[in-house]
Amino acid sequence: MDTFTETGPLPTAALKDGFLSDQFGRVFNYLRIAVNEQCNLRCVYCMPPGGVDFQPKKELLTTREINRIVRVASTIGITKIRFTGGEPLLHPQIASIVRAAVGTPGIEEVHLTTNGLLLPEKAEALKLAGLHGINISLDTLDDSRFRTITRKTGLLRVLEGMESALELGFPSVKINMVAMRGFNDDEITNFVELTKQHPVTVRFIELMPFDSHQIWKTGKFYQAEHLIADLTTLYPELTPVDGSSTEHHVFRLPGYPGKIAVIPAYSRNLCSGCTRVRLTADGYIRNCLYSHREYNLRQVLRNGGDDREIANLFKTAMWHKLEDGWEAQRRGEEHRESMTQIGG
Ligand code: SF4
Repeated sequence: MDTFTETGPLPTAALKDGFLSDQFGRVFNYLRIAVNEQCNLRCVYCMPPGGVDFQPKKELLTTREINRIVRVASTIGITKIRFTGGEPLLHPQIASIVRAAVGTPGIEEVHLTTNGLLLPEKAEALKLAGLHGINISLDTLDDSRFRTITRKTGLLRVLEGMESALELGFPSVKINMVAMRGFNDDEITNFVELTKQHPVTVRFIELMPFDSHQIWKTGKFYQAEHLIADLTTLYPELTPVDGSSTEHHVFRLPGYPGKIAVIPAYSRNLCSGCTRVRLTADGYIRNCLYSHREYNLRQVLRNGGDDREIANLFKTAMWHKLEDGWEAQRRGEEHRESMTQIGG
């Protein structure tokens, strides 16, 4: 597409549209909002031991601003919201933020990704707020390995959190496991067995390069294709099934209530079907996880911008989305030190 432009004005048509689209014909209906940067874990592939320079509170979007953004986003085709962080359950008003999103006309699904440490005590409030789905980030079922990966304790609390979410009957409970060679790849079968015991989806996710010390360069990268091949060898009866709109490699084992998904988060071979928009906790729109180019929505909000200006910034950001995550990464240096500052 030789007429692609990464900057410059939008065609009038795109401005008029009641939805978000780009120059490749993709339409975006899924907004991932980071509600904070703080986290109560220090995962080795995300942050250095001492953490990162978290932004001061005044630089982060307020609850009122987040609610307003969700409302405006619902008028431009966003139907699915995912709250992330940092660790979103550390946000004191996370239940009311979820409730507001669930109550916004046009928003059909509201999900949240958590490390699960605070889930035992927060699950009920989230369920009452109407949350549709929870993804729990958990890379090991071994206690000492949990300490090595997260530099903290808490495995039992995370598993307790998963149990509470299942008991409360959330429509969707998923486990996000970052699969790493020579690190936790010997636990693949243990995680698959979770889908025998519970109606959960275990998602094996490729390691992504969003940490200042680039752990992914240390031979731990486990490519999605290879993981699928290994799973098929381990479980010849593995059967492809439908997954959610953002999951493409999804399987089930006969008689197992749960499902298994493999997410090529680094391989980026599914970008042609991308539906995602990201908003960082400090109010910047990212049109791709790998894009270094950001659009300052916080400034529009704090300069008294009206709903049309908010909508137009989303449209501008998405119209200028590059063809795929590889192109996005090629076009510049990542200025954020850690995934906790992007929101995943
Ligand atoms: S890499 Fe970028 S374009 Fe590709 S799926 Fe992820 S967010 Fe979408």
